[in-house]
Amino acid sequence: MIKSKGYAAQNETSGLSPWNFERREVGPHDVQFDILYCGVCHSDLHQVRGEWGNSIYPMVPGHELVGKVTKVGNHVKKYIEGDLVGVGCLVDSCRTCDSCKEGLEQFCPNGSMTYNGFEQDKKTPTYGGYSNNIVVHEDFVLRVSEKLNLPAVAPLLCAGITTYSPLRYWKVGKGHKLGVVGLGGLGHMGVKFGVAFGAEVTVLSTSASKRDDALKLGAHKFVVTKDEKQMQEVAGYFDFILDTVSAEHNYNQYLTLLRPNGVHICVGAPATPSQIFSFSLIMGRKSLAGSLIGGLPETQEMLDFCAEHNIVSEIELIDIKDINTAYDRMLKSDVRYRFVIDIATLK
Ligand code: NAP
Ligand code: ZN
Ligand code: ZN
Repeated sequence: MIKSKGYAAQNETSGLSPWNFERREVGPHDVQFDILYCGVCHSDLHQVRGEWGNSIYPMVPGHELVGKVTKVGNHVKKYIEGDLVGVGCLVDSCRTCDSCKEGLEQFCPNGSMTYNGFEQDKKTPTYGGYSNNIVVHEDFVLRVSEKLNLPAVAPLLCAGITTYSPLRYWKVGKGHKLGVVGLGGLGHMGVKFGVAFGAEVTVLSTSASKRDDALKLGAHKFVVTKDEKQMQEVAGYFDFILDTVSAEHNYNQYLTLLRPNGVHICVGAPATPSQIFSFSLIMGRKSLAGSLIGGLPETQEMLDFCAEHNIVSEIELIDIKDINTAYDRMLKSDVRYRFVIDIATLK
């Protein structure tokens, strides 16, 4: 077994603290790499604190990993020692269901999540990227460009693909008006992709202080959602809304901002259910939809698109010992716009 060290939560209220554990030996199709940076996703916080009700402890979170290959199995074809690689939310899947065959591994009913899940043997727990190394089947390892700033690439592995995928699926682009609700880790990537795809992008935020940043990110408009007048000005305005909000909020309020046939795409995953009035959908034949990360082929496509168009995340690099404070700040929407752990600080 390979010795690993990381930060783990021991239960819903423990917070994160140092923890030693083991990973499997490198098999014939496996890639081992040293994790250099790991992004901090709000999903980590939801799961560490047991908010989604499916938490397995001890939990080593982290599903935005980038690093350098240190060892490959003797059948590995895609990677060699020294390659820059990444891993997102998935480390394996069944390979046989319709979703797997279509490259939509995120919808595999038996997929192995990077943490808070199990390997395909259904009994070995998976541990994520708040740690110094990992062993992953080569099919679930992604190639990362040498051209981009590596710590700022890490968030692409979840925040990036989660916003890229729905915008591609609904073919959001030139001539469309896109509203991005919530300017956090996902939201700021949604703005960058929306702009790159040619849409007119409006940020809808609870934080008036994020206006300048939103415009710098390329957004064309900024709406403070607590300001009724500003909200009225964009009633019936958007073709698409990308909703990245992590906490309970009123979907009906945002549905009024859509044009007829508009689509409200949920990617934010609040822990509590919401009430939807059917009138919010009926009036204007509107759709309320959802999207989950992205499959392996599309994740590689997104990374290559980012390398070509020089797109990375806006980050604040943190020492791993400050992770609990970072969670508290994330809850206050005080992150500009993604915390990334410098794994070199894990001693
Ligand atoms: P984040 O960085 O904390 O950003 C969330 C943003 O939502 C905040 O910055 C804030 O933006 C806004 N917000 C927070 N509380 C709000 C409230 N009560 N009402 C309205 N707006 C509020 O989080 P993230 O990492 O981007 O993740 C966002 C959500 O997506 C989380 O629930 C996460 O679990 C989920 N997620 C889903 C997927 C998927 O595949 N579907 C993948 C990754 C994450 P403003 O300050 O601009 O208002
Ligand atoms: Zn995530
Ligand atoms: Zn499958």
